[in-house]
Amino acid sequence: MDQEPSNHLTQVLRKKEGSLVELFDGRGSSFIAEIVSLEKKLVKVKLIKVESSSERKGIKIDLGQSLIKSEPFSHSIQKATELGVSSISPLYTERTVVKLNPDKIQSRKERWESIAKHACQQCGENWLPEINKIQTLKEWIETVNAKNKIVLYPNSKTKLSSLKFDESVAIAVGPEGDFTDNEVALLKEQDFLPVQLGERILRADTAVISAISAIRTMCKEF
Ligand code: SAH
Repeated sequence: MDQEPSNHLTQVLRKKEGSLVELFDGRGSSFIAEIVSLEKKLVKVKLIKVESSSERKGIKIDLGQSLIKSEPFSHSIQKATELGVSSISPLYTERTVVKLNPDKIQSRKERWESIAKHACQQCGENWLPEINKIQTLKEWIETVNAKNKIVLYPNSKTKLSSLKFDESVAIAVGPEGDFTDNEVALLKEQDFLPVQLGERILRADTAVISAISAIRTMCKEF
């Protein structure tokens, strides 16, 4: 088993040889395994039983999140994962201020994946979201495939609650400085409907939590 889950089992959960543990593969399946040997950084297990695999539950949500400062972006990944999104695509937008060194990109992506893994672990979700490569807003909106598409835009007169959702939704969320008029026009061309979440301007990570929770409520999942 990898170093991180090994460490979690030995240092946090204090498991011993012979203990049974539940493992998941991030693609909907979970397994019961027995710990056969245990060091701080390397735990070996024996597979006992494959639990039946589960379908991803609820409306499929693809999140296009403009890069923002590291801490709120990580927060957004954690919360979106807990709320069961299928994919998260970090986006470069016109007002993205964060500049990532090319040599930092891989380590940042690994960090985001680790945050998502921990979030799944903590909420008992067997499906990990796909964390896509960083891409431009244009690239994402031309390729994302969803029945409903919305862009969270404080200036919109349309309230999120006035819409109906089913099957799948793509959600675009802007940076600290919001999307430009140009970008909103581009999003509209690709059938993204601008919607607002009330009159308060929320931090982007709060907007993500609010929109996903509202959509799941509207779909009667909450
Ligand atoms: N600086 C901008 C707000 C940016 S907030 C301003 O003062 O208007 C960052 C992102 O969160 C926005 O691009 C939008 O996608 C989302 N957001 C925040 N509050 C929102 C609201 N009330 N309605 C819809 N989207 C919102």
